[in-house]
Amino acid sequence: MKLTFLGATGTVTGSRYVLTSGSERIMVDCGLFQGYKALRLRNREPLPVAPGQLSAVVLTHAHLDHSGGLPLLVRDGFKGPIYCSEATRDLCRILLPDSGRLLEEEAAFANRRGYSKHNPALPLYTEADALAALERLTPVPFGHTFRAGSAFQATLRHAGHILGAAMVRIEADGASVVFSGDLGRQHDPLMAPPEHFEQSDYLVMESTYGDRVHNPEDPAVLLAATIKATAARGGVTVIPSFAVGRAQTLLYYMQRLKAAGELPPLPVYLNSPMAADVTALYRRHRHDHRLSVHDCEAMSHAATIVNSVEQSINLNRRRLPMVIIAASGMATGGRVLHHLKAFAPDRRNTVLFAGFQAGGTRGAAMVDGTDAVKIHGEYVPVRAQVLQIDNLSAHADQGELLTWLGGFRAAPRRIFLTHGEPPAAEALRQQIARHLHWQAEVPGYGDEVELPPLPRDNGAPPTSPRTTVGLGRSRPS
Ligand SMILES: [Zn+2]
Repeated sequence: MKLTFLGATGTVTGSRYVLTSGSERIMVDCGLFQGYKALRLRNREPLPVAPGQLSAVVLTHAHLDHSGGLPLLVRDGFKGPIYCSEATRDLCRILLPDSGRLLEEEAAFANRRGYSKHNPALPLYTEADALAALERLTPVPFGHTFRAGSAFQATLRHAGHILGAAMVRIEADGASVVFSGDLGRQHDPLMAPPEHFEQSDYLVMESTYGDRVHNPEDPAVLLAATIKATAARGGVTVIPSFAVGRAQTLLYYMQRLKAAGELPPLPVYLNSPMAADVTALYRRHRHDHRLSVHDCEAMSHAATIVNSVEQSINLNRRRLPMVIIAASGMATGGRVLHHLKAFAPDRRNTVLFAGFQAGGTRGAAMVDGTDAVKIHGEYVPVRAQVLQIDNLSAHADQGELLTWLGGFRAAPRRIFLTHGEPPAAEALRQQIARHLHWQAEVPGYGDEVELPPLPRDNGAPPTSPRTTVGLGRSRPS
């Protein structure tokens, strides 16, 4: 078996891996690159494998940095099944068409305003492309081994993280490899801790927070303090949030704070019809999370849902204290951009980032203290207070990543750390060596590695691993 890294190397976005056995290939995740322009341009580069030559895709979860490239793959000729959990399928039905619609809207907006360097600006893909991709989604139950293509067998287990999120173990040619997907927290209010695979010959593991330990403080306390302080100076709290996962965690805390009387009486808006649809899915997939029926009900009433664009625009005219939760979480797109234009210039307001901010995103720039961000071709001054709560994260921190890794009975022969910015991946590599005395490595874009089967007896030593530097290094990117 051979593994090719086509994304999530040196970055937390663009998760894409290809596994090859003989002449057959499958893909694990097909995400979008976000953040730095050099990364985003990869979304438009053709894959080194013709999509028509892939026999299947295994999708770990619905976040766009794992699933958002599927419409392109299908448009460009992929005809096989996309295996995923049932909840991931349901989330993709909401997320992917929305992604296509947003890309179309952004291209249309750029063409109207004439700020795109491309003439005309073309969407990366359309809503129709996304709908076509949905046809290929094939749900599989957790814990059952299924065939992906003719040479591969795969098994999903719960990864925590978000509704439906999976890690996957894939076997072919006598070898096994686990892809961790995105790993959840040990003590998340919504999701159970990640499950384990006790054995794998090889491992591809995420390292988003490989260099950080989440603040142990209750995020509800920070959330309440921020909203109260902002309201006291007559300001608005804008919370950029992923529509899936983070928005529901925020709603959960909001209803808890409201019930405990710890929030001032101010309106809370969820400006994302999609996030509202996702919240409804928690009711359908009751066994995939920790919330009770009552919690789900309360969560769906924690905020006023903003549906129409007019309502969204009207919010920007309100100058009274309120809380607005809107996508996207790293301010790379979505309705939150309009709220940032309206509220970031006023120092009474607060922009509260509720998750990881990838390098090159507006979110990362604002958290780093930039005094202006470019939105829709114009510079918007940032005078509002900018804060970040990282312990709302749906990602395991350094200690939790090590805990999960310790669930393997023996060291996988090779451990590849991906889905992390370089300092995070490197710090995790060092911690793994220090605490578990296991060697891990950080692959580069386009790298190809052989995953030979391990000898199962105590005889000859395993064949030496071989890494070839792949297409990525020789390509301009
Ligand atoms: Zn994710």
